[in-house]
Order: sequence, then structure tokens, then C-alpha cells
Amino acid sequence: MWSNVFVCGLGYPFAAMGTCVRYGHRVSSVIQAYRFALDPNSGQEQALRSHCGGQRRAFNWGLARIKANLDQRAAEKTYGVAEDEPTTPVSWSAYSLRKDWNQAKDTVAPWWAENSKEAYSSGLANLATALGNWADSKRGERKGHRFGFPRFKGKRSGLSCRFTTGAFGLADDRRHVKLPRIGTIRTHESTRKLARHVERGTARIRSATVSLRAGRWFVSFSVEITRADPAPARLDSVVGIDLGVKSLAVLSTGETVPNPRHLETALRELRRLQRQAARRVAPDRRTRQQPSGRWRKTQARITRLHAAVANARRDGLHKLTTRLARTHGAMVIEDLNVSGMTRNRRLARHVAGAGMAELRRQIEYKARWAGARLHVADRWYPSSKTCSACGVAKAKLRLSERTFRCDACGLVLDRDLNAARNLAALVHRETSSPSCGATQNEPAGNPLKTRTARATGTATGRPAPAGQRRRRKATAV
Ligand SMILES: [Zn+2]
Repeated sequence: MWSNVFVCGLGYPFAAMGTCVRYGHRVSSVIQAYRFALDPNSGQEQALRSHCGGQRRAFNWGLARIKANLDQRAAEKTYGVAEDEPTTPVSWSAYSLRKDWNQAKDTVAPWWAENSKEAYSSGLANLATALGNWADSKRGERKGHRFGFPRFKGKRSGLSCRFTTGAFGLADDRRHVKLPRIGTIRTHESTRKLARHVERGTARIRSATVSLRAGRWFVSFSVEITRADPAPARLDSVVGIDLGVKSLAVLSTGETVPNPRHLETALRELRRLQRQAARRVAPDRRTRQQPSGRWRKTQARITRLHAAVANARRDGLHKLTTRLARTHGAMVIEDLNVSGMTRNRRLARHVAGAGMAELRRQIEYKARWAGARLHVADRWYPSSKTCSACGVAKAKLRLSERTFRCDACGLVLDRDLNAARNLAALVHRETSSPSCGATQNEPAGNPLKTRTARATGTATGRPAPAGQRRRRKATAV
């Protein structure tokens, strides 16, 4: 089956989804997003705005139509009249919304031909999803927080538009992207990370979404990709990760991962700008005071700076999680109740700031890619309060106490390092006592409290047979 032969990142083949024969690279097929900042010229920017505006028009048009229909039917129900002839419901599937739009567009949006039809389709598809989420949520068929009825998109709502058909993709020079109707736009950075996959034939671009974020245009490609990730360098190594308040993270190896370099400077600048905004004329709903131009200008700067802070943080987290997943065979993190913690006002800024939920998200998929094991400790496991040397737990440990002092054995250790070591020890306990087959923190009768996310299959790192290397070209097509 030659069609099932893939090539790992270094060019070594393997026969199917699994492990590369030479280096033990794990190969997986995933959907991944690649986002690039754009540098459109003024004409292109106009076209981007026009497409996003078309998307909004179609969304609002469809929403008004569905809303009127629902209201009419609800009113008929309360009157109890016209029961034999109620207004027929309007379907909100993306298909029928599109069909209805095509009939109405000449009167609703006579300028429709200026934009790619994808602009309107994307607005209607978003509407269909939003209505579906609302309906499922109302019926209780949807997990997570409750979805409200979709709202109309105002002038200042975020601009975005998605292309799913037509000619979009990367240009050959690795510095431009192609979009239907809008043309070839220069990217702010090189597109080589995705271009290499496309040239190698390991990527299939499914859609392109343009959006305006904090004053900058981006394109995000949704890509079906065949990844080859190296197996962790130290398969038997276990690392406990405690997300720090002062630093980004503290590892059980004793390493403290500092916050990204630019974060503190950016935060100081943010405080300065917020003072500046406070001196300027802000909008006021009660007095109908319009904001001054200078206030808007400061706000735009604050928005840009917020984006910079978020970028610095995400970058730091990505570097950390990639390094961890490529080094250690097993990782242990805490199952933190992030939404509960952000409600505690004193903790909120630190928790949200350190991006704990984001770290969890990244480490989960990177562990899966690399074939590392990820252990999530039980939410109630007292990792901070337990002594990592003798195992005696304290009754109380204030958040302000940054150093752990054990009353039983006299251990004095940094609070976060102590917690990280406790987390790492969970795995040792799990593997060294197969007779009980469970972690010690686990209450009896609830085997689901400590979860182990195990990637399917393991990397072997077997060397290739001698003849394999030369056959590479023939099999790799
Ligand atoms: Zn102790």
C-alpha cells in the first residue's frame, strides 16, 4: 500500500500512521491552524473590510428574518388563534439560509457582486451555528455555559470572514497569501512553516479566515496536516509542573521558568496608558457624552498593548510546553478550577495572567503529538500543603506564605517547588505500587478522580534496517 507511506520530519518513511522507523517520530494526522499577520495595501484593506461588512450584512439579515418568524409564531401561540393555519417556520440550516439569501440579495444588498459569495456564506454559516448552539443549549443538549439567542452585529463588532471554496492558499514566494476576489496579500512574516508542509504534500488547507484583531489583519488557515513529532528525549523521566504566580512555572526538576521578557515592561506601559485614558473624555451612557478623539486614540493603544501582552504570554507558554513535551515521557499538572479561581478577585489577575487554562490546552495536545503521558492530578489533591519529603500534609497554608516549612521533618523549600515535586511523585507512586494500582490521593470508590491521558501507541526509537535509507525516495512519493 504505497499510498499509505509517509515521511517523517527528517525524511524517513513509515508504512502507516504510527512511528517513523529511524527516529521514532510519532506521526499523527491533525487539524491545525496556521495564523499569519498580513500587511495589506490600502486597496486590499478596503476589500477586506468590504468582505467582512458583507459577512455582517448577511448575518444580520438572516437573524432578523429568523427572529421575526419566531416572534410571529410565539405570538400566534399565545393568542390561540389561527391554529389551523400558523405561520410556517423558517429553516435556519446554512443551506436554506443561503438559498433564501440568494433570492433576496438583489433588494437587500444590491452591491453584493462587489464581494466574493463566500463573504455572505460565511455570515450565514456563523448564524446557523449560533442558532443551533442556542437551540441545543435551551434543550439542555449542550455542555458548558448557556448560549443566549444570537445578537445583531454592530458597527464595532469584530471583523472576520471565512473562505471555504475558491482559490486561496500560499503564494510560492512564502511571503504572500492568496484570497478569492481580494488577491495576493503580503504577509508580515514568512509563511515557511506551513509552506514546507504544503510543498512536501503533508498539508491540505481547508479554509482561510481573515480577521482584524487589535488594529491588525490576520489570516488563519485551517489545515489538515500529517505531523511527525520526535518522541520525548527522556522517555522514563517524569516532571511535575506547578504554575507559578510570580514566575510562569516551577518544575519538579528545580527549574524556575521565568515570565517572558517583555511582559513586565508591557504591563508598566499599560498602567501608564490607563492613567492617560482616565484623564481624557470617556463616553458616558447616562449623560450621552461621546468619547473624545484623544480618548479613542489612547484606547486603540491600550488594545494594541493588550494584544502584545497576550502574545508575549502565549509565546512563553508555547516555548515551555514544546520543550516539556519533547523532553519528558510523563508530565503531571494540576486540575485547577480556573473559572472558580478567576471569580476570587485576589487570585483572578494572577491566574488569568499566567494563562493556566491555555497551558493545560497546549500541553494536552503536544503530549498527544509527542506520545508523552499526561497526568492530571485530582482537583482536591493538596499539592501545596503536602511535604514532598515526608508526605505529612499541613492543615492550612496561606497563599502569602511563599516558603514551605514542614513541622514534621523540618523541610524548608520554595512553595511552588514543593508542589511540583508532589505532583511528579504522583506518577512514581502510581507506577511503583502496581498492587494497589492507584494514586494515594484517590479517595476509595472513585477511580475517576485522577485521570491519565495516555496517547495511543508508544514510540520505540528503533534504528532503521540498513537498506531502508536508500529506498527512501522510491517509497516517499
Ligand atoms: Zn516533611
